[in-house]
Amino acid sequence: MGEYSRQPVKGLQFDLLDLAPEGKTLSGDLDCAEFDLDDLPRRTFTSPIHYQLRLTPINGGHDLLVQGNLSSQLTVVCDRCDEPFAWELFTDEVCHEYENAFGTTIDLTDDLREDILMTIPQQFLCNEECLGLCPTCGKNLNQGPCDCDDTVEASGEVPDETNPWSQLDQLPLP
Ligand SMILES: [Zn+2]
Ligand SMILES: [Zn+2]
Repeated sequence: MGEYSRQPVKGLQFDLLDLAPEGKTLSGDLDCAEFDLDDLPRRTFTSPIHYQLRLTPINGGHDLLVQGNLSSQLTVVCDRCDEPFAWELFTDEVCHEYENAFGTTIDLTDDLREDILMTIPQQFLCNEECLGLCPTCGKNLNQGPCDCDDTVEASGEVPDETNPWSQLDQLPLP
């Protein structure tokens, strides 16, 4: 008893019974499931999530400041060309305060999950210049042009439907 537990009690629950005034640095690896994060079809964790956290007593030792970084490796799918590629998650903007945290067990899971979700973009691009898929034949244009290139260009710029006269032409006669 009284010994500060270096390792998480369970997942990201830390025992704060006896945190030294100078604080503690905690680091380790946890499976994404420990953060209540599931793999999605277009976003798969391929490594554990590494955390490095500094726990510091603040406000005269009443409250706790948690700062640090989180990192992991994922395989994600490009939103333009549908090809999977490796993506590295990293954030060093972890910063949370907990009031009257001492003498308790603190659970960082929810706050760190939010940090991770904020770091994952809504859309992934394998490359800023990704050419995507041909809308006509579905070929990945990063691998070279497809045979229907001319057709796409011809109907691309000003489709006939935007020309009011061509729409008049299409009106059914009474
Ligand atoms: Zn792409
Ligand atoms: Zn094509």
